[in-house]
Amino acid sequence: MRAHCIVRHGEPLEALDRPIPEPVGTEVLVRVTAAGLCHTDLHIWEGSYDLGGGKRLTLAERGIHLPITPSHEICGEIVAAGSLADVRRGLRCLVHPWIGCGACAACQRGEENICIKPQSLGIVRPGGFGEYVLVPDPRYLIDIEDLDAAQAAPLACAGLTTFSALKKFGARIHEAPLVVIGAGGLGLSAISILRALGGIGAIVVDVDARKREAALTAGALLAIDGNAADAAQQIAKSTDGGARAILDLVGATATQTLALASIARGAHIVICGLMGGNITIPLPFIPMRPITIQGSYVGTLDELRALVELAKRSKAAIIPVTRRPLSEANDALRDLRDGKVIGRIVLVH
Ligand SMILES: [Zn+2]
Ligand SMILES: [Zn+2]
Repeated sequence: MRAHCIVRHGEPLEALDRPIPEPVGTEVLVRVTAAGLCHTDLHIWEGSYDLGGGKRLTLAERGIHLPITPSHEICGEIVAAGSLADVRRGLRCLVHPWIGCGACAACQRGEENICIKPQSLGIVRPGGFGEYVLVPDPRYLIDIEDLDAAQAAPLACAGLTTFSALKKFGARIHEAPLVVIGAGGLGLSAISILRALGGIGAIVVDVDARKREAALTAGALLAIDGNAADAAQQIAKSTDGGARAILDLVGATATQTLALASIARGAHIVICGLMGGNITIPLPFIPMRPITIQGSYVGTLDELRALVELAKRSKAAIIPVTRRPLSEANDALRDLRDGKVIGRIVLVH
Protein backbone atom coordinates (compact mmCIF):
# COMPACT_ATOMS: atom_id res chain seq x y z
CA MET A 1 0.00 0.00 0.00
CA ARG A 2 0.97 3.61 -0.42
CA ALA A 3 1.65 5.65 2.73
CA HIS A 4 2.62 9.32 2.79
CA CYS A 5 5.18 9.50 5.59
CA ILE A 6 7.20 12.04 7.51
CA VAL A 7 10.69 10.66 7.01
CA ARG A 8 12.72 13.73 8.04
CA HIS A 9 11.52 16.75 10.00
CA GLY A 10 10.71 19.77 7.85
CA GLU A 11 11.16 17.91 4.57
CA PRO A 12 8.36 16.92 2.20
CA LEU A 13 6.36 13.80 3.02
CA GLU A 14 7.48 10.75 1.06
CA ALA A 15 5.11 8.27 -0.56
CA LEU A 16 6.44 4.91 0.62
CA ASP A 17 5.37 1.40 -0.33
CA ARG A 18 4.39 -0.48 2.80
CA PRO A 19 2.98 -3.98 3.29
CA ILE A 20 -0.77 -4.06 3.99
CA PRO A 21 -1.02 -5.09 7.65
CA GLU A 22 -2.61 -8.46 8.38
CA PRO A 23 -4.93 -8.25 11.38
CA VAL A 24 -4.61 -10.94 14.06
CA GLY A 25 -6.49 -11.49 17.33
CA THR A 26 -8.69 -8.47 18.06
CA GLU A 27 -7.11 -6.30 15.36
CA VAL A 28 -9.18 -4.73 12.60
CA LEU A 29 -7.98 -3.52 9.21
CA VAL A 30 -9.66 -0.35 7.99
CA ARG A 31 -9.42 0.98 4.42
CA VAL A 32 -9.00 4.73 4.86
CA THR A 33 -11.40 6.97 2.91
CA ALA A 34 -10.80 10.31 4.65
CA ALA A 35 -7.94 11.61 6.83
CA GLY A 36 -7.88 15.05 8.45
CA LEU A 37 -4.83 17.26 8.79
CA CYS A 38 -4.20 18.73 12.25
CA HIS A 39 -1.74 21.13 13.87
CA THR A 40 -0.28 18.15 15.71
CA ASP A 41 0.76 16.72 12.33
CA LEU A 42 2.52 20.03 11.77
CA HIS A 43 4.30 19.79 15.14
CA ILE A 44 5.43 16.26 14.27
CA TRP A 45 6.61 17.45 10.88
CA GLU A 46 8.53 20.34 12.49
CA GLY A 47 9.92 18.07 15.20
CA SER A 48 9.38 19.91 18.48
CA TYR A 49 7.15 21.99 20.77
CA ASP A 50 8.01 25.49 22.04
CA LEU A 51 8.26 25.52 25.85
CA GLY A 52 9.17 29.21 26.06
CA GLY A 53 12.43 30.81 27.16
CA GLY A 54 14.25 29.20 24.25
CA LYS A 55 13.43 25.65 25.48
CA ARG A 56 11.91 23.05 23.19
CA LEU A 57 10.33 19.64 23.77
CA THR A 58 11.46 17.22 21.10
CA LEU A 59 9.28 14.45 19.74
CA ALA A 60 11.83 11.84 20.78
CA GLU A 61 11.28 13.02 24.38
CA ARG A 62 7.58 12.29 23.85
CA GLY A 63 8.40 8.79 22.56
CA ILE A 64 7.68 9.68 18.93
CA HIS A 65 10.11 8.44 16.29
CA LEU A 66 10.34 8.80 12.50
CA PRO A 67 9.29 7.68 10.00
CA ILE A 68 5.63 8.31 10.85
CA THR A 69 2.50 7.95 8.74
CA PRO A 70 0.56 10.97 10.05
CA SER A 71 -3.14 11.74 10.50
CA HIS A 72 -5.13 10.77 13.56
CA GLU A 73 -8.48 11.92 12.10
CA ILE A 74 -9.41 8.76 10.24
CA CYS A 75 -12.59 7.50 8.63
CA GLY A 76 -12.81 4.34 6.59
CA GLU A 77 -14.45 1.00 6.15
CA ILE A 78 -13.69 -2.32 7.75
CA VAL A 79 -12.09 -4.73 5.25
CA ALA A 80 -10.59 -7.48 7.45
CA ALA A 81 -10.28 -8.54 11.07
CA GLY A 82 -8.52 -11.03 13.31
CA SER A 83 -10.35 -14.10 14.61
CA LEU A 84 -11.19 -12.45 17.95
CA ALA A 85 -12.69 -9.27 16.45
CA ASP A 86 -16.45 -9.38 16.06
CA VAL A 87 -17.04 -6.81 13.31
CA ARG A 88 -19.11 -6.34 10.18
CA ARG A 89 -17.08 -6.05 6.95
CA GLY A 90 -17.92 -2.89 5.02
CA LEU A 91 -18.99 -0.93 8.11
CA ARG A 92 -18.20 2.77 7.67
CA CYS A 93 -16.57 4.03 10.83
CA LEU A 94 -14.64 6.73 12.58
CA VAL A 95 -11.48 5.57 14.34
CA HIS A 96 -10.75 6.67 17.91
CA PRO A 97 -7.00 7.28 17.57
CA TRP A 98 -6.16 8.05 21.24
CA ILE A 99 -5.17 4.52 22.15
CA GLY A 100 -3.38 3.81 25.42
CA CYS A 101 -1.36 0.91 26.85
CA GLY A 102 -4.50 -0.57 28.42
CA ALA A 103 -2.70 -1.29 31.69
CA CYS A 104 -1.92 2.02 33.44
CA ALA A 105 -4.22 3.77 35.94
CA ALA A 106 -5.41 6.29 33.33
CA CYS A 107 -6.33 3.54 30.85
CA GLN A 108 -8.12 1.62 33.63
CA ARG A 109 -10.22 4.72 34.29
CA GLY A 110 -11.12 4.96 30.59
CA GLU A 111 -8.83 7.95 30.01
CA GLU A 112 -6.59 6.38 27.39
CA ASN A 113 -6.01 9.86 25.98
CA ILE A 114 -3.75 10.64 28.96
CA CYS A 115 -2.03 7.24 29.11
CA ILE A 116 1.63 7.34 30.15
CA LYS A 117 2.60 5.06 27.22
CA PRO A 118 0.31 6.25 24.42
CA GLN A 119 -0.02 4.25 21.21
CA SER A 120 -1.94 6.95 19.33
CA LEU A 121 -2.58 6.32 15.65
CA GLY A 122 -0.86 8.80 13.34
CA ILE A 123 1.54 9.81 16.13
CA VAL A 124 3.11 6.63 17.53
CA ARG A 125 1.47 3.98 15.30
CA PRO A 126 0.80 4.48 11.56
CA GLY A 127 -2.15 6.79 10.82
CA GLY A 128 -4.52 7.84 8.07
CA PHE A 129 -2.09 8.96 5.38
CA GLY A 130 -1.73 5.32 4.43
CA GLU A 131 -4.29 3.41 2.36
CA TYR A 132 -5.02 1.09 5.28
CA VAL A 133 -4.77 1.49 9.01
CA LEU A 134 -4.53 -1.26 11.62
CA VAL A 135 -6.73 -0.71 14.67
CA PRO A 136 -5.91 -2.90 17.71
CA ASP A 137 -9.50 -3.50 18.84
CA PRO A 138 -13.03 -3.03 17.43
CA ARG A 139 -14.02 -0.87 20.41
CA TYR A 140 -12.05 2.00 18.87
CA LEU A 141 -14.38 1.99 15.84
CA ILE A 142 -17.52 4.12 15.88
CA ASP A 143 -20.29 3.53 13.33
CA ILE A 144 -20.89 6.84 11.48
CA GLU A 145 -24.15 5.66 9.80
CA ASP A 146 -25.19 8.40 7.34
CA LEU A 147 -22.47 10.90 8.17
CA ASP A 148 -20.15 11.89 5.36
CA ALA A 149 -16.67 10.40 5.95
CA ALA A 150 -14.80 13.66 5.28
CA GLN A 151 -17.14 15.54 7.62
CA ALA A 152 -16.83 12.89 10.31
CA ALA A 153 -13.02 12.43 10.24
CA PRO A 154 -12.15 15.70 12.07
CA LEU A 155 -14.48 14.75 14.91
CA ALA A 156 -11.69 12.45 16.15
CA CYS A 157 -9.40 15.37 17.07
CA ALA A 158 -10.65 18.88 16.27
CA GLY A 159 -14.17 17.93 17.34
CA LEU A 160 -13.20 15.76 20.31
CA THR A 161 -10.69 18.29 21.67
CA THR A 162 -13.26 21.08 21.69
CA PHE A 163 -16.08 18.81 22.93
CA SER A 164 -14.01 17.58 25.89
CA ALA A 165 -12.88 21.14 26.70
CA LEU A 166 -16.44 22.49 26.50
CA LYS A 167 -17.61 19.75 28.87
CA LYS A 168 -15.05 21.00 31.43
CA PHE A 169 -16.90 24.33 31.72
CA GLY A 170 -19.97 22.52 33.05
CA ALA A 171 -23.06 24.74 33.39
CA ARG A 172 -21.12 27.93 32.60
CA ILE A 173 -21.72 27.58 28.87
CA HIS A 174 -25.44 28.11 29.63
CA GLU A 175 -24.81 31.10 31.93
CA ALA A 176 -22.38 33.32 30.04
CA PRO A 177 -20.94 33.69 26.57
CA LEU A 178 -17.80 31.63 26.07
CA VAL A 179 -14.72 33.47 24.82
CA VAL A 180 -12.99 31.28 22.25
CA ILE A 181 -9.43 32.27 21.32
CA GLY A 182 -8.46 30.94 17.89
CA ALA A 183 -10.80 30.49 14.94
CA GLY A 184 -9.03 27.67 13.11
CA GLY A 185 -10.57 24.21 12.74
CA LEU A 186 -11.01 23.86 16.50
CA GLY A 187 -12.52 27.31 16.91
CA LEU A 188 -15.15 26.71 14.26
CA SER A 189 -16.00 23.34 15.76
CA ALA A 190 -16.27 24.97 19.21
CA ILE A 191 -18.91 27.35 17.83
CA SER A 192 -21.06 24.58 16.38
CA ILE A 193 -20.63 22.13 19.28
CA LEU A 194 -21.46 24.92 21.73
CA ARG A 195 -24.66 25.55 19.77
CA ALA A 196 -25.49 21.83 19.67
CA LEU A 197 -25.00 21.66 23.45
CA GLY A 198 -27.38 24.57 23.97
CA GLY A 199 -24.76 27.09 25.11
CA ILE A 200 -25.31 30.86 24.98
CA GLY A 201 -22.73 31.30 22.26
CA ALA A 202 -19.14 32.18 21.46
CA ILE A 203 -17.24 35.46 21.34
CA VAL A 204 -14.33 34.61 19.09
CA VAL A 205 -10.88 36.18 19.16
CA ASP A 206 -8.42 35.79 16.28
CA VAL A 207 -5.66 37.90 14.77
CA ASP A 208 -6.63 36.91 11.20
CA ALA A 209 -9.52 38.86 9.61
CA ARG A 210 -10.43 35.90 7.34
CA LYS A 211 -10.73 33.59 10.31
CA ARG A 212 -12.85 36.13 12.21
CA GLU A 213 -15.11 36.32 9.17
CA ALA A 214 -15.37 32.51 9.07
CA ALA A 215 -16.24 32.50 12.78
CA LEU A 216 -19.08 34.98 12.25
CA THR A 217 -20.35 32.91 9.32
CA ALA A 218 -20.26 29.85 11.58
CA GLY A 219 -22.46 31.67 14.10
CA ALA A 220 -20.14 33.47 16.54
CA LEU A 221 -21.87 36.23 18.54
CA LEU A 222 -18.95 38.59 17.97
CA ALA A 223 -15.41 38.45 16.58
CA ILE A 224 -12.58 40.46 18.15
CA ASP A 225 -9.14 41.17 16.68
CA GLY A 226 -6.64 39.68 19.16
CA ASN A 227 -3.99 42.13 17.98
CA ALA A 228 -6.12 45.21 18.72
CA ALA A 229 -4.56 47.37 21.45
CA ASP A 230 -7.85 47.29 23.36
CA ALA A 231 -8.65 43.59 22.77
CA ALA A 232 -8.90 42.87 26.53
CA GLN A 233 -11.26 45.83 27.01
CA GLN A 234 -13.39 44.67 24.07
CA ILE A 235 -13.68 41.21 25.64
CA ALA A 236 -14.54 42.66 29.06
CA LYS A 237 -17.14 45.00 27.52
CA SER A 238 -18.81 42.21 25.55
CA THR A 239 -18.92 39.89 28.60
CA ASP A 240 -20.49 42.32 31.06
CA GLY A 241 -17.29 43.31 32.84
CA GLY A 242 -15.05 40.30 32.28
CA ALA A 243 -15.09 36.83 30.78
CA ARG A 244 -16.26 33.99 33.05
CA ALA A 245 -15.17 31.26 30.65
CA ILE A 246 -12.32 31.33 28.15
CA LEU A 247 -11.30 28.51 25.84
CA ASP A 248 -7.77 29.04 24.52
CA LEU A 249 -7.31 26.96 21.39
CA VAL A 250 -3.98 28.60 20.55
CA GLY A 251 -2.10 28.21 23.83
CA ALA A 252 0.56 30.85 23.23
CA THR A 253 2.13 33.48 25.50
CA ALA A 254 0.12 36.21 23.76
CA THR A 255 -3.23 34.43 24.02
CA GLN A 256 -2.84 33.59 27.73
CA THR A 257 -1.66 37.13 28.47
CA LEU A 258 -4.82 38.37 26.77
CA ALA A 259 -7.00 35.82 28.57
CA LEU A 260 -5.67 36.78 32.01
CA ALA A 261 -6.25 40.46 31.20
CA SER A 262 -9.87 39.83 30.15
CA ILE A 263 -11.33 37.71 32.95
CA ALA A 264 -13.90 38.37 35.64
CA ARG A 265 -13.39 37.14 39.19
CA GLY A 266 -14.04 33.43 39.47
CA ALA A 267 -13.20 32.82 35.81
CA HIS A 268 -12.41 29.44 34.30
CA ILE A 269 -9.80 29.15 31.55
CA VAL A 270 -9.29 25.94 29.61
CA ILE A 271 -6.19 25.64 27.41
CA CYS A 272 -6.05 23.13 24.53
CA GLY A 273 -3.68 24.83 22.08
CA LEU A 274 -0.04 23.81 21.87
CA MET A 275 1.45 26.81 20.09
CA GLY A 276 3.80 27.19 23.03
CA GLY A 277 5.66 29.74 25.08
CA ASN A 278 5.21 30.45 28.77
CA ILE A 279 3.54 32.91 31.12
CA THR A 280 4.34 34.34 34.52
CA ILE A 281 1.46 34.84 36.89
CA PRO A 282 1.54 36.30 40.41
CA LEU A 283 0.44 33.35 42.56
CA PRO A 284 -1.80 35.39 44.89
CA PHE A 285 -4.00 36.19 41.88
CA ILE A 286 -5.02 32.53 41.58
CA PRO A 287 -6.70 32.38 45.01
CA MET A 288 -7.64 36.07 45.25
CA ARG A 289 -9.41 36.37 41.93
CA PRO A 290 -10.03 33.20 42.24
CA ILE A 291 -9.33 31.62 38.87
CA THR A 292 -9.13 28.13 37.46
CA ILE A 293 -6.67 27.36 34.68
CA GLN A 294 -7.22 23.88 33.33
CA GLY A 295 -5.61 21.91 30.54
CA SER A 296 -7.48 19.60 28.21
CA TYR A 297 -5.86 17.05 25.93
CA VAL A 298 -8.06 15.56 23.18
CA GLY A 299 -10.73 13.41 24.89
CA THR A 300 -11.90 9.95 25.87
CA LEU A 301 -13.48 7.20 23.78
CA ASP A 302 -16.79 7.77 25.61
CA GLU A 303 -16.66 11.47 24.75
CA LEU A 304 -15.99 10.68 21.08
CA ARG A 305 -19.00 8.32 21.02
CA ALA A 306 -21.16 11.08 22.55
CA LEU A 307 -19.85 13.60 20.00
CA VAL A 308 -20.60 11.31 17.05
CA GLU A 309 -24.17 10.96 18.37
CA LEU A 310 -24.38 14.76 18.64
CA ALA A 311 -23.12 15.09 15.05
CA LYS A 312 -25.75 12.60 13.83
CA ARG A 313 -28.52 14.65 15.47
CA SER A 314 -27.09 18.01 14.39
CA LYS A 315 -28.40 19.33 11.07
CA ALA A 316 -25.31 21.38 10.27
CA ALA A 317 -21.77 20.02 9.86
CA ILE A 318 -19.68 20.37 13.02
CA ILE A 319 -16.58 21.55 11.14
CA PRO A 320 -16.34 23.14 7.68
CA VAL A 321 -13.98 20.96 5.66
CA THR A 322 -12.06 21.30 2.43
CA ARG A 323 -11.47 18.01 0.62
CA ARG A 324 -8.18 17.45 -1.18
CA PRO A 325 -6.71 14.31 -2.71
CA LEU A 326 -4.10 12.53 -0.59
CA SER A 327 -1.51 13.23 -3.29
CA GLU A 328 -1.70 16.91 -2.23
CA ALA A 329 -0.66 16.13 1.36
CA ASN A 330 2.51 18.22 1.13
CA ASP A 331 0.71 21.28 -0.23
CA ALA A 332 -1.92 20.90 2.49
CA LEU A 333 0.76 20.75 5.18
CA ARG A 334 2.41 23.91 3.85
CA ASP A 335 -0.92 25.74 3.67
CA LEU A 336 -1.64 24.81 7.29
CA ARG A 337 1.82 26.00 8.37
CA ASP A 338 1.29 29.30 6.52
CA GLY A 339 -2.06 29.88 8.24
CA LYS A 340 -4.03 29.68 4.96
CA VAL A 341 -6.50 27.01 6.04
CA ILE A 342 -10.08 27.91 6.94
CA GLY A 343 -11.73 25.09 8.88
CA ARG A 344 -10.16 21.69 8.30
CA ILE A 345 -8.40 20.09 5.34
CA VAL A 346 -9.42 16.47 4.90
CA LEU A 347 -7.43 14.33 2.50
CA VAL A 348 -9.59 11.87 0.67
CA HIS A 349 -8.34 8.55 -0.66
ZN1 LIG B 1 -2.14 3.38 29.63
ZN1 LIG C 1 -5.13 16.58 16.14
